[in-house]
Parts: sequence; structure tokens; C-alpha cells
Amino acid sequence: MIRQNRDEISINTDVEKRFWEKVDIRSNEECWNWTAGKQSKGYGSFGIGNGKTALAHRVAYELTYGEIPEGLCVRHINHNKLCMNPSHLRLGTIADNNRDMVEAGRQAKGMKNGRSKLIDEYIVLMRSDFQAKEKTIKELAEEYDIHYNTARNAIQGKTWKDLPLAE
Ligand SMILES: [Zn+2]
Repeated sequence: MIRQNRDEISINTDVEKRFWEKVDIRSNEECWNWTAGKQSKGYGSFGIGNGKTALAHRVAYELTYGEIPEGLCVRHINHNKLCMNPSHLRLGTIADNNRDMVEAGRQAKGMKNGRSKLIDEYIVLMRSDFQAKEKTIKELAEEYDIHYNTARNAIQGKTWKDLPLAE
């Protein structure tokens, strides 16, 4: 039993070492960027064996704070998807995360590369749900957990002008 625990500990230490070697560790105030592979949505990707990968920021969170409760996600408080600085990571709900991304997109308006494909997808989805009369602006704002005005401006095309308006 003791022997088994020792093995687990050495495996964990090994993963931890391998993980942090891929992070550009800086001062606590700065972002610690992931230097290895990315997955399709621009998040860091970390190999966990058997050809499987995990989202790197989730690994950073778990190595520092322990297991992520089921159904919760790890948010980047400064919207930097590649940041692994544990003090920049927070637990949140999926709705929190959606709001972060939509708000980040609003701030990055005009800065094309500051915006993720995912936000674009959300905006297009909100517009088409609204046009199809499936949902009201209020319902959509609640669903994405964003401010009513943010949702209304996005749906009416006052923001994200370069994205298609639903017909
Ligand atoms: Zn950061």
C-alpha cells in the first residue's frame, strides 16, 4: 500500500515537472504563457498519455488547487487563453465562461485577433435563435449570462458588424 502510494507520488511529480517545463513562468502579476501545443480553439493542450490530451489551463488549476468539481470550468480572469498562472485562473460555471468571452469580444472590438472563433459562433447563434423567433433578447441574455444591452447590440448588429446578420 505504502509502496503504491510512493509510485503514485513519483508519477504525479513527473507529470508536474513535465507540465511546468512547458510554461513560461514569470512574476506573479504577469501571464505565464503555454509554450507547447494548442487545440483547435486556441487553448493549450497537454499530453496525458495514451494519445489523450487535456486542456493545459485545467491541468495548471488541478496541479495547484486540486480537482475541478464536475460541471465547472476554469476561467482566465484576464482573457488570455494560454495563461497558466494559477493566480489568473478561477473556477466558474459554463455561463460565466460564455460571458467572459462575449465581454472580451466586446472589448476587443476592432482587434480582429483578440477575438475567438467561439465568440463569433455564439453571436451568430444568438442572432439566428432570435430571428427564428425562438428566443427573446432577454432569454438569450440570460442563456449566455450576459448583460441585456450586450445581447441586444450583438443581435441587432450594432456590435460585431462584420458577422452575418441572420436572415
Ligand atoms: Zn494571466
